[in-house]
Amino acid sequence: MNTEVDVLIIGAGPAGSSAAALLHKQGFKLLVVEKLTFPRFVIGESLLPHCMDLLKEADLLEAVEARQFIHKGGAVFLRGNETCNFDFSSQFTAGWKYTFQVPRGDFDKTLADAVAARGVEIRYNTGVTAISFNKDGATVTIEAPDKTTSQVSARFVLDCSGYGRTLPRLLDLEKPSTFPTREALFTHVAGDQRPVGNEEGKIWICMHPGGAWIWIIPFSNGKTSVGAVATPEFFARYPGEPDAQLRDILFSDPNAASRLAKMEFTMPSQRITGYSCGIKQLYGEHYALAGNATEFLDPVFSSGVTLALASANRAAKTIIRQLNGERVDWQTEYSDHVMQGINAFRAYVSGWYDGKLPQIFFAANRNPEVMRQICSVLAGYVWDKSNPYVTQADRALGLLAQILKGQNKTAV
Ligand SMILES: Cc1cc2nc3c(=O)[nH]c(=O)nc-3n(C[C@H](O)[C@H](O)[C@H](O)COP(=O)(O)OP(=O)(O)OC[C@H]3O[C@@H](n4cnc5c(N)ncnc54)[C@H](O)[C@@H]3O)c2cc1C
Repeated sequence: MNTEVDVLIIGAGPAGSSAAALLHKQGFKLLVVEKLTFPRFVIGESLLPHCMDLLKEADLLEAVEARQFIHKGGAVFLRGNETCNFDFSSQFTAGWKYTFQVPRGDFDKTLADAVAARGVEIRYNTGVTAISFNKDGATVTIEAPDKTTSQVSARFVLDCSGYGRTLPRLLDLEKPSTFPTREALFTHVAGDQRPVGNEEGKIWICMHPGGAWIWIIPFSNGKTSVGAVATPEFFARYPGEPDAQLRDILFSDPNAASRLAKMEFTMPSQRITGYSCGIKQLYGEHYALAGNATEFLDPVFSSGVTLALASANRAAKTIIRQLNGERVDWQTEYSDHVMQGINAFRAYVSGWYDGKLPQIFFAANRNPEVMRQICSVLAGYVWDKSNPYVTQADRALGLLAQILKGQNKTAV
């Protein structure tokens, strides 16, 4: 049976559900197709405060609040006995002071169910397999669980298929990432000995002495997400099955080892390799990409869901104007805007791996005002043009790291 809609959304992750919420509010006929059934496991569990603005605008925050996910009030970076503790309550941008750490199966289902309850059709177990364009929109082939295919006619297609990267693959839009190949090995554990009070919900990022970094993300269900990110060469130094490998890596970092001394794995370890990817363009005449279907940088600053919600928000608003007959300039109104956020984070990811950010984070004489500005980037406010650590991120981080390096040499 063929279906006709205004907008077909591919994927019901945070990008797809939030775009659906905004488009539905304006009365468009939608279909969301999702390849899997929910809840499904996906990595990416630490949100940033800017997510709260975006969830609120899509009328999804109430449903998320009701789940009583643990509050995340900041991020703590640890290297041996050095610590850099960011608290979102003292950031530069006027924004949310907390957000959530979320098991993504629960979080994504919460968003998708809230949207479905408003009347948006989500077809689970249904994947997009082909697309062709005509002057009025697109014809999309979808495959049902029994492998039968059907066609959807849509005036516009929004690809929110995340790591599936459906349109980038079908339309040859992919390009290699500018970052080298890295791997992530991760699991969930019980028995994490957490700090107390406001510190409990913060993410820990531990710099492992051998060149990896480790995340520790506590959940309200008593479990904790732990993972290590490094080059394949680093992982090759830890032989054995993935569980043994991850345990050895965690226990060879002093901070992770002491916090996780009593941990027990609650699921088998999983590995993802080469997740960073680039993209040639974010839109065409009758389609756009949002979330991880665009470009994915690196997990170190937990930017993925924030960028997914922010790009979906901007894509939905641009689609609304186009379908209402307004002239829109997708390059400036959508692509440039999304890339501004991605590029701000790119400067921080580069600075993390080339040593500039560790130099700044673990400096003895940190400037509180500068740290407040950097804190706002770590809170996801990467469109705040009044923050020099957003608008001139590369230059500002480079200069600051150089000054601090000079001061350290003088001190020696
Ligand atoms: C190791 C690692 C750690 C990370 N940690 C964090 C973190 O702490 N915080 C953070 O914010 N981000 C993190 N991320 C990034 C985060 O996982 C993603 O940015 C986020 O999930 C993107 O959301 P999305 O809605 O774009 O895509 P997804 O959440 O991937 O959703 C896409 C959906 O599309 C569906 N789909 C795929 N192909 C098709 C198809 N052909 N047809 C129909 N449906 C399809 C999929 O089944 C999926 O449900 C991490 C990433 C990695 C690799």
